[in-house]
Amino acid sequence: MTAPARRQDYCTQHHQPRSKCEPWDRHGHTMRFREDDWMAAEHAAKTARTDVTALVTQMMEAMLGYARCWRCHPGAPPVPVGFGDLAGRPLREAVADAAEQVISQHPDHHPVTIGRAGVPPVVFAEPGRRAR
Ligand SMILES: [Zn+2]
Ligand SMILES: [Zn+2]
Repeated sequence: MTAPARRQDYCTQHHQPRSKCEPWDRHGHTMRFREDDWMAAEHAAKTARTDVTALVTQMMEAMLGYARCWRCHPGAPPVPVGFGDLAGRPLREAVADAAEQVISQHPDHHPVTIGRAGVPPVVFAEPGRRAR
């Protein structure tokens, strides 16, 4: 008889060890937000006719340098995104447009620019570190 898996190693959603879950399986993860920030996020999501999970996921993927196409196989590689000229419009809208562009490219994906292309790219760097 094998020892029972430790609770955090067992996926209660898929009823198996977490190591057996696919990378694209969706699991609940805890994030803590200030109450006012959460309310602002809910308001922004409602305005964009989406939900907070979709909004946060899209923004997080953009910051990680990619977007995922929901029409592709879930194991397909993500589509690279870069930042162009972001002046003059809300970042949220520019990111949402890029995500739409990725989906409309399907199945032939190529890198997408968030914002206006053809200008020196915006590079994000951690505080205290220089952009490369
Ligand atoms: Zn799972
Ligand atoms: Zn696709």
